[in-house]
Amino acid sequence: MNNIPAYVKVGGRTYTIHSDLDTSRLTSDDGSRGMTFTERLRIHINSDMPVELIRETLLHECMHAAWDIVGLSRSGDAAEHEEQVIKALAPTLAAMLRENPEVNAFLRGE
Ligand SMILES: [Zn+2]
Repeated sequence: MNNIPAYVKVGGRTYTIHSDLDTSRLTSDDGSRGMTFTERLRIHINSDMPVELIRETLLHECMHAAWDIVGLSRSGDAAEHEEQVIKALAPTLAAMLRENPEVNAFLRGE
């Protein structure tokens, strides 16, 4: 319905994206819009939200995956600020990609 992709590659790792009803219930019961399980290469997205929030949440979770890949989740100070930094940047990055199709295409090498 929202065309949420089934996979996303982040830093050479392929994460499966789960957004079925059960996953959405689990995620929303937890009070979050999404979750990233770096040890299992899984991203859970609550799909029972407006599509704008789903897009923002997917980018947010991909940033958690990137944070882990570059080792920041194992770096004391950085790990402490992971959620704060990602929460602050993800909405702006999502909007930048959405509102600048030419920049988006350029970044993709098109
Ligand atoms: Zn988060």
